[in-house]
Amino acid sequence: MTIGIVGAGQLGRMLALAGYPLGLDFLFLDPAAGAPAGQVAPLLEGAFTDQTRLAELAERCEVLTFDWENVSVDALRSLPRRTRISPPIPALAAAQDRVSEKRLFEQLAVPTTRWRAVSSHSQLGRALQQVGLPGVLKTRRMGYDGKGQAVVRSLQEAEAAWSQLGSVPLLYEELVPFDCEVSIIGARSRRGEIAIYPLNGNVHSEGILRLTRAPYGPARWQRLAAGFLERVLEKFRYTGILTIEFFVRSGRLIANEMAPRVHNSGHWTIEGAVTSQFENHLRAILDLPLGSTRPRGYSAMINLIGNMPARTELLAEEGLHLHSYGKQPRPGRKLGHCTLVAPSAPARDRQARRLLTALAPRVRIP
Ligand code: AMP
Repeated sequence: MTIGIVGAGQLGRMLALAGYPLGLDFLFLDPAAGAPAGQVAPLLEGAFTDQTRLAELAERCEVLTFDWENVSVDALRSLPRRTRISPPIPALAAAQDRVSEKRLFEQLAVPTTRWRAVSSHSQLGRALQQVGLPGVLKTRRMGYDGKGQAVVRSLQEAEAAWSQLGSVPLLYEELVPFDCEVSIIGARSRRGEIAIYPLNGNVHSEGILRLTRAPYGPARWQRLAAGFLERVLEKFRYTGILTIEFFVRSGRLIANEMAPRVHNSGHWTIEGAVTSQFENHLRAILDLPLGSTRPRGYSAMINLIGNMPARTELLAEEGLHLHSYGKQPRPGRKLGHCTLVAPSAPARDRQARRLLTALAPRVRIP
């Protein structure tokens, strides 16, 4: 059975690596011939908007899924009706536009930030009045890893952010002085089975995820986050892995955004959970029984960004698992990650702190 994956980045690569032991085959579509998943599976070279290439992928595969969610929804809708697409197109559409995402959260009573849509200079003025300062101006579409957004602390900064971003539709929201950031990841299968992982505690720097620790936080946060995730999963009769990211402020969870795919904050599940997020995504979209999400210990995942540290040094660290994505170094680029699984939360935190200080001295762990 062949799974078609749109996007051949590291997420796609890890999906394929998780699927081979299950006897699955993979075919990728990506504009870059040298993309990470193309090194482990066949790849069709073509734009994500290339209708002919998408149709070919659909024709040659039993089910289509994604390692990148910003695929043209119109292009997917025009594929033959028999094409099985997971996650469902309406979930992809909601996640592609920050305004649709906010409306979805509000409709499902998932707490989110105060926000306004901004598509003109006068709307920016109204948004600043209604939401207040400080805030964040973000592009509605195609933002990731902190790209396409600017923090606004004064009217002058608002003008500068408008000049930088204002050529496309935007969203303005309050800047949340959060205590920490968490994310919840879970799968829903075609038959409606749901499996949810322990909560992830995430540390970002310059908009990019640096460190994830899981399990993280009190049981109440886990219950709240899992409840919110289930509402979104059920709303779309979702199939596959879904992620929601939250700010935590004074014990309240405030949804930031969702990702209709496997997520960077779930990479620890490869070694740190009984079944990885990658395997559970495949099980969910193929309607196989979902695997246990039980943690095997206390995990920490550190992203390797910009340049790859020497393999010899990393592997000298006791219990460290290294994942290199086969990408060329570039500032700010995710090149790999490493995971530690410790017997207790304090032992994990000590080891993660020490390692992160050596790898990225400027990143602060709260
Ligand atoms: P995003 O692309 O929306 O996930 O933003 C990337 C990161 O920027 C988040 O994980 C936060 O660390 C930070 N950030 C984004 N929006 C806000 C906000 N409204 N308040 C505080 N921090 C934010």
